[in-house]
Amino acid sequence: MLNATTKNIIERKALRVNAAKTCQPIGAMYASLGIHGCMPHSHGSQGCCSYHRSHLTRHFKEPVIATTSSFTEGASVFGGLANLTQALKNIFTIYNPDIVAVHTTCLSEVIGDDVPTIVRRAREEGAVPEGKIVIHANTPSFVGSHITGFANMTSAIVKYLSEKTGETKEQVTIFPGFVEPADMREIKRITKLMGVPFVMLPDTSGVLDGGLDGNYTMFPKGGATLPEIRSTGDSAASIALGHFTAHPSALTLESKHKVPATLLEMPFGVAGTDEFVQTLRAFSPGGAVAPEIEEDRGRLVDAISDMQQYFHKKRVAVAGDPDQVIGYVRFLLELGAHPCYVITGSKGNAFEQRIHELLDPVVPDAKIKQQSDFFELHQWIKNEPVDVIVANTYGKFVSRVEDIPLVRVGFPILDRVGHRYFPTVGYVGALRFLDMLTNALFDKKDRTCAEEWFELVQ
Ligand code: SF4
Repeated sequence: MLNATTKNIIERKALRVNAAKTCQPIGAMYASLGIHGCMPHSHGSQGCCSYHRSHLTRHFKEPVIATTSSFTEGASVFGGLANLTQALKNIFTIYNPDIVAVHTTCLSEVIGDDVPTIVRRAREEGAVPEGKIVIHANTPSFVGSHITGFANMTSAIVKYLSEKTGETKEQVTIFPGFVEPADMREIKRITKLMGVPFVMLPDTSGVLDGGLDGNYTMFPKGGATLPEIRSTGDSAASIALGHFTAHPSALTLESKHKVPATLLEMPFGVAGTDEFVQTLRAFSPGGAVAPEIEEDRGRLVDAISDMQQYFHKKRVAVAGDPDQVIGYVRFLLELGAHPCYVITGSKGNAFEQRIHELLDPVVPDAKIKQQSDFFELHQWIKNEPVDVIVANTYGKFVSRVEDIPLVRVGFPILDRVGHRYFPTVGYVGALRFLDMLTNALFDKKDRTCAEEWFELVQ
């Protein structure tokens, strides 16, 4: 059954098979979890909310909280005003969050529910207690992907909550984009080592990678706090890491409060991390790079030079979220590999343009596509194989059928554990990616090579 993919490629316009993306509210829910004391709320049917929560839970292996407007047939016809009003009453009475972050679903978007008006009326009716906050983002899943949902919710947080007092703070707002909590932790570690005061938005470290101490806390201690988020309007600058998931929020902050934005790509690999560290230098007292960071970089460069022979011109297929795929393609080129198939399930001309810019001089015949899927990638691979696949868990089908090693990165990873604990951003994260890639190639060689090539030492 796994091998039903045909070699013969027929151009498809309206059909996706084995999509390389998921729906907008999942990204919005993930972004909301990066606010301390926030309850993500799904304005739609119970099924949507259950799916989004379980998908995030399976990836992070942590309980993911969220509430739902629980639409039934009545709400589907007459709108969700009564449901959302009752939901807000229940949420504040039972769970008592500081903030409720409402995102819409396909159903409430098709009905055309006006969430701000519903919330205003709910407040007038006393469903929202004094001092409590309700924000919202429109996240219709029939356009965009989880990436769009993440960006929409992060921008909504800025729109609703950032404030300017007129007194500029010596701090930088960092928008990390849709990355793992471990990645956010690493970005914070680098920023702290550089001595730069900052607010990270959103920040899911300490929320979805928390430790076990025997007590369940509905709102873990992590996440950007309300005073921190408010203060982003007074930040001296912002740094946004990722065209699709971070730049829109930084531009929102810039247009709302004139906080100048530095727009970077995600800090993957040597050059990607160098750009981030160089940007931080401008805000760092003394402007020097911390010795620990230089040592991390040195170790990475050493590992690359030790291992480069194994990557030279290796054909790699890369699939995943656009910001991360751009970062991995950059790093693979630094390693001397040839990313020859590069896809994202999300929409974005900027993605294709950027990948062309990177690959045209080195791999001019590379296949590059936005809004693609794993079926199409499989067809390309059937016609001309690759040495390794870099993708999320869904790449395992192609990997198994074609006996090609899979390096699991991105979202979702449903069948492994390390992504929650170990970063792939920064020099340290690049070292981990290098380790995964090298071992995947060695494992395949050990499994399949002729006896005379079977080596104890690599
Ligand atoms: S695609 Fe739409 S209907 Fe389906 S789970 Fe996502 S939001 Fe709900």
